[in-house]
Amino acid sequence: MKPLWAVVLTVSALGAFECGLKPVHVNDKRYCFFGAPEVMNTHNNGNMVNTCFVDAGKSYLVIDSGPTYLYAKEAHMQMNALKAMKVSHVINTHVHDDHWLGNGYFLSQGALLAGPTPFEQATHSSQTPRMALRISKQAYEGTMPTPPFKLIAQSGSLHVNDMEVRIVHVDHKAHTSGDLFIYIPSIKTIFAGDLVFNDRLPSLRDGDINGWIAALEQIAAYKANHIVGGHGTRFDAKAHEFTYGYLTRLRDEVRAAIEEGVAIDAALERIVMSEYKSAAMYDVMHRANVEAAYRMLEWEE
Ligand SMILES: [Zn+2]
Repeated sequence: MKPLWAVVLTVSALGAFECGLKPVHVNDKRYCFFGAPEVMNTHNNGNMVNTCFVDAGKSYLVIDSGPTYLYAKEAHMQMNALKAMKVSHVINTHVHDDHWLGNGYFLSQGALLAGPTPFEQATHSSQTPRMALRISKQAYEGTMPTPPFKLIAQSGSLHVNDMEVRIVHVDHKAHTSGDLFIYIPSIKTIFAGDLVFNDRLPSLRDGDINGWIAALEQIAAYKANHIVGGHGTRFDAKAHEFTYGYLTRLRDEVRAAIEEGVAIDAALERIVMSEYKSAAMYDVMHRANVEAAYRMLEWEE
């Protein structure tokens, strides 16, 4: 009889890594894979982000390609199980690596890859993505960082077969220094990328609190029937309200502390916002968000 380790090795060599993706049907033509409300680690292996796809008749549009090559390949298998079609277009909403490291797979299938202009730096970067360092080698296998080659610097429309897709370029720093959100008029749906988080706290690390709040007001003005974010499973018309509520409350509290002359260390102790304590990632995100907001807002007139 073979020792147990030999059996384990044989099984892992034969079976490619699987994320266990299951598409959630949201409306007529739209589906999403919803990831866990966690940071990337060796338990979720990158399945902590949302990837959505829209049936555009003869091909699929994919919004954000996920964290790895194998994730993207598995996602396409799941799409094909619903309706076998190629993926003709992939739009990456922003440059954070959990949203675009699946691009290599979709490029190998002939898809056009588009994303905002900060990807220009990613094209020239030799830095190892965080994902490669934090998830298992097996899950990351085959992943080659492949930034989108069609860079979008302003808002405009695109047709995927007969479906109109509006790509909205946020003209100021918001979640990052280059965010896109997608509006599809025929299904009154917005794909907001990481401008919208649910179930877990957002991260202000690379963003600007004023710009982010303004972008959420821009999203709200569309009065879409469905808004789906980059993290979190809520996708109704009010799905942006969690992030909007958190950021506006944070801004109010930080502004008040600054006006009262409260120093940053004391502000960090004071601004607890306890009603958000039950949200995932409060412990790792909230203090860092207070600090980031304080440093941005202390320069306001
Ligand atoms: Zn992000």
